[in-house]
Amino acid sequence: YTGKSDATVLSDEIQKIKVHHYQSRPILVEQSTSVYEAICTMFLEDCGTLFIVDKQSTLVGVVSRKDLLRASMGGQSIDTVPVSIIMTRMPNITMCEKDDSIIEVAQKLISRQIDGLPIVKKVENGSGYEVIGRITKTNMTSLLVDLSSNDIN
Ligand code: ADP
Repeated sequence: YTGKSDATVLSDEIQKIKVHHYQSRPILVEQSTSVYEAICTMFLEDCGTLFIVDKQSTLVGVVSRKDLLRASMGGQSIDTVPVSIIMTRMPNITMCEKDDSIIEVAQKLISRQIDGLPIVKKVENGSGYEVIGRITKTNMTSLLVDLSSNDIN
């Protein structure tokens, strides 16, 4: 007998889970893409957050559903306005790395009041970040279901 309560054991197990165990595929859009095209991509890919990259695939911004709605209501032409105009941009992007703890990331989602964040890797011999994954509130729901069925690895 370890002397640990069930709650402590569960909490210890959760602390060991890393963000890459629950990640999704990131959906990337180049910064010169029109707002219209970005809306199409969001529907086709069935995602709520797009990561915006430059020609070198370096992360430059994030666009959410409401960012696109707001842009569509603004009276500008969504065919010509590029997503770079409406995105939340670096360095104001909340990010994480693949070996970060899932709980640390969940806390970021709550404190920043966002739906998801990019999992990034520093670009070798350069500046900036490459996007290698995506973690969202949906992934957190999967974690909750796994925990309830005692299915953690
Ligand atoms: P929505 O706006 O559709 O409710 P979010 O809550 O995720 O979706 O986004 C709220 C705002 O925060 C948006 O303006 C979006 O650009 C921005 N945002 C979303 N994700 C991030 C992130 N990882 N880092 C910084 N800003 C973000």
